[in-house]
Amino acid sequence: MQQSNQAVKGALTHDIVIVGGGLVGASLGCALAPLIERYGWRVAIIESAPMVVQPQETTWQPSFDARASAIAEGSAQRFQQLGVWEAMRDEATPIKRIHISERGRLGATRLSADELGVAALGHVIPNAWMGRVLHQRLAQLPLEWHCPAKVEQLTPVANGHDLHLSDGSQLKAGLTVLADGGRSGLKEQLGICSRHESYQQTALIAHVGVSQPHLGVAYERFTSQGPMALLPLPGQAMELIWTHPSGSEQARMALPEREFLLQLQRAFGDRVGRFTRVGTRHTYPLSLVTAEEPVRPGLAVLGNAAHALHPVAGQGFNLALRGVMDLVEALEQGEQAKRPLGDMITLQAFEKQRSRDRANVIRFSDGLVRLFGLSFPLLPHARAAGLIGLNLVGPLRRGLARRAMGLER
Ligand SMILES: Cc1cc2nc3c(=O)[nH]c(=O)nc-3n(C[C@H](O)[C@H](O)[C@H](O)COP(=O)(O)OP(=O)(O)OC[C@H]3O[C@@H](n4cnc5c(N)ncnc54)[C@H](O)[C@@H]3O)c2cc1C
Repeated sequence: MQQSNQAVKGALTHDIVIVGGGLVGASLGCALAPLIERYGWRVAIIESAPMVVQPQETTWQPSFDARASAIAEGSAQRFQQLGVWEAMRDEATPIKRIHISERGRLGATRLSADELGVAALGHVIPNAWMGRVLHQRLAQLPLEWHCPAKVEQLTPVANGHDLHLSDGSQLKAGLTVLADGGRSGLKEQLGICSRHESYQQTALIAHVGVSQPHLGVAYERFTSQGPMALLPLPGQAMELIWTHPSGSEQARMALPEREFLLQLQRAFGDRVGRFTRVGTRHTYPLSLVTAEEPVRPGLAVLGNAAHALHPVAGQGFNLALRGVMDLVEALEQGEQAKRPLGDMITLQAFEKQRSRDRANVIRFSDGLVRLFGLSFPLLPHARAAGLIGLNLVGPLRRGLARRAMGLER
């Protein structure tokens, strides 16, 4: 990876420019490696947040914050294809079982790796570790790296886009991939509209200590305040994702540790024993955002820029990684058909492949939030029956597990 921090004047041409070196942009850079080698493509990644890529240091930027993510088994297989899984698994905690319940109701659904005949349903990996592994892999590739540099202007031109960077560089790319997380204003600059529906919920995230071994169980619990999840981490620690009606999380952020742990215990119950400590707490407002035009001539939108989901089912990055792999496959087919990289036949083939998967995942996670967020008198019983029913009906439960594992689209 060539570091390119100094201002480069004049127009450069690239086959592909990736805007954003977060989880999705960095994964795309790694996934392009064989094609860069095969076709000699010139690829650049532009990342606005400063990043440390020395082997012993932790990277730090928005994608790689204090969160840990549930990485589906299908994504682990994709990381294997990218040549990063061996390093990823050093900090990965396998999910052996998933326990889904509703507070105050009897029903519970259990999904188990044993039942499905797999070693794990998924893996929990700290985002900072994923970032470090991906960036170490990128450092071995012949990619151009502009960091810190922000794409300030993106202009469609004949055969691609002109990009104006904050470090003074001007690039021209045949294909520009927007993996900027969707908050940079570049979509708006291009007139790409997004559907934005706030869930009026905010996720509070923290590492918590538990008094009993978690045995690799991930918990999903639906409460009247919103869903909460506990994901297994190494030792007797878990990652807490606790959704609150927006505004109400502030009081919990301010609570002294002891009081916070007491409230958590009341909300979650004692399935993991006592909560013994809580680390730094972070908050994330939650919305469903979908870009209405994920492809245009010379442009593809990926990751959070294309779809930001409620984290209830831990699907956002898993879905995005499937998008990364599909894009690379479509680009290779386009190249074999001798089409220019940003050709709409290629990009529409990619979008056709994506749309069904994306719609299914959005329906699944949005549906979960809404089903468990509604409060009609009979619904709690229906939900409990649903959870019990799901537990009894093997194929349905196995279908849910395969989706959670990222093996079903
Ligand atoms: C609370 C929470 C929990 C989650 N848990 C899970 C989970 O368990 N499993 C799962 O699969 N998903 C999960 N997700 C979703 C997952 O975090 C996202 O899908 C993922 O982070 C999206 O990555 P991204 O690279 O698209 O965007 P980002 O992480 O936002 O990265 C975008 C990058 O682009 C850079 N950038 C922005 N603008 C510019 C510009 N103009 N020029 C250059 N660079 C720019 C930014 O600095 C950033 O590095 C969770 C999300 C939340 C909120």
